[in-house]
Amino acid sequence: MTKKIFKGILFTAFLTMLACMTFIIGVQYQIYSDSQLQSLKSKAELISQSIENGTEIQSFDGCEERITLISPDGTVIYDNKLDSGSLENHALRSEIKDALNTGSGSSVRYSDTLSQSNSYYALKLSDGNILRISENGITVFSVILQLLPPICAIIIFTSVLALFLAYFVTQNILKPINAIDPQNPKIESGYEEIEPLITRLRFQKNKINRQIAELTRSQKEFEIISDNMSEGMLLTDKNGTILTHNKSITSIFGTLDIDGKNLLVLNRSRAFREVFDGIIEAKHTETLFKTDEKCYEITESPVIDENSMSCGAVIFIIDITEKQERERLRREFTANVSHELKTPLTSILGFSELIKNGIADPEDAKDFGADIHRETKRLISLVNDIIKLSRLDEGAFMTASESLNLKNTVNEITEKLRPIAEQKNVEITAEGIDTEIQAPEALVFEMLYNLCDNAIKYNKVGGSVTVTVGTRNHRPFVTIKDTGIGIAPEHRDRIFERFYTVDKSRSKNGGGTGLGLSIVKHSASALGADITLESVLNKGTEITVRFPQ
Ligand code: ADP
Repeated sequence: MTKKIFKGILFTAFLTMLACMTFIIGVQYQIYSDSQLQSLKSKAELISQSIENGTEIQSFDGCEERITLISPDGTVIYDNKLDSGSLENHALRSEIKDALNTGSGSSVRYSDTLSQSNSYYALKLSDGNILRISENGITVFSVILQLLPPICAIIIFTSVLALFLAYFVTQNILKPINAIDPQNPKIESGYEEIEPLITRLRFQKNKINRQIAELTRSQKEFEIISDNMSEGMLLTDKNGTILTHNKSITSIFGTLDIDGKNLLVLNRSRAFREVFDGIIEAKHTETLFKTDEKCYEITESPVIDENSMSCGAVIFIIDITEKQERERLRREFTANVSHELKTPLTSILGFSELIKNGIADPEDAKDFGADIHRETKRLISLVNDIIKLSRLDEGAFMTASESLNLKNTVNEITEKLRPIAEQKNVEITAEGIDTEIQAPEALVFEMLYNLCDNAIKYNKVGGSVTVTVGTRNHRPFVTIKDTGIGIAPEHRDRIFERFYTVDKSRSKNGGGTGLGLSIVKHSASALGADITLESVLNKGTEITVRFPQ
């Protein structure tokens, strides 16, 4: 724009200067022509005077001007520059015609005789002849030639002046336009022509502000959603360059400055190479990525634009460690259940076949019957425990919480188990104070019963079990302390697993199924309670259940 205005001003100045020059040259030419005719007239009058006074016309032979004497019929009588005889009749020359009619005449025209532009002045003498004086005419070119030095000086001067003026005028015109504040476009007085532009700017500014607000809101929404997602999320372009990622990616792969880098900087494992290939080929991929501790499912979907071209990909990285672990445990549980059920059933089948085929003596048949009875009992308690566990899985015990006195529950359990404890010569006592909790009674009863049952089962002859109820740090607790066989450190973490037993035959003989502590762990987690275990091998075990406040 600056250039255009600058050029425009310069061009206008140049045209104006050219017009002025033309005008000046024209005027100058006119002045010169008039003064030449005036001088010719004076000379003609002088010469005519001297001819009238008797001077011979030949005496003007050496004159600089061309002097011609023409008779009234147009015949050239004398010419000081040319042979008069060779000259054609001049009667039709305009200055001659005028002189014959009015006494004098003048003209400026191209002379065929001399082949150049001439100025003529003709004067009628008293004898009727015409005296004509002529000189080389003034031409525009000769005027220009004469004016050339001042013209050049003026052109140079005005060009420089025009350059400066154009520069300053341009700056002056553009200054207020350049100073327009796009945030608050205002118009200066004298610039009413750009009012439509200012209105448009205001409109655009409002539109852009609205769009920015909308974009910021959408971006914030997106950030809140993506940052609160437990899944890792990545957006890449079609070449696999990471455009953005959420917080979970950082927690999975550590704090990384990965935006703008290739996806493979995260990891170069086979899983990530497959995902990368998927992005390049614009196809959906699902793959598993395993670290030492975790297992992730990576889902990659290409982003297709309106021209059905891939413009990038969305990648979700989901932690499925727990899911995989649950599936593994379920598989293990199913295998264990089948195994645990098969053993007593095989025994029952064997004993019953012996009886059926009459191989067993009536005396032995009695023992076989007792064995069948024991295995069936074990089978029933196994099935019961499995049912309890599956009901706990379904949350069936989570009936409405009720106000429960832990001391009463513990008393009830110890009374129920006392006959069994006495059989084993184990003393069981309940201690502590009345302590209220809010929980479903069946669940609490089941949990504490299993713990007390184990404390008797894995005790020594003459041992004891002490169950204490109380509150510590505002949290109700129950401690079951026995003086039994204790648990070796390597087993302590595993005894809460399903079907895990330290000594299979001891557990089996005591009617154990390996599911008691799993039921306890499940119940505690449903109640929001913590379990701590302290044990010294051959000295005893102390298990504490802390209920929520
Ligand atoms: P089980 O039906 O075999 O008793 P549990 O799940 O109740 O199954 O217990 C798992 C294992 O933990 C038992 O086989 C036993 O070896 C050990 N255990 C549980 N409670 C005690 C305890 N109070 N003292 C010593 N060992 C225990």
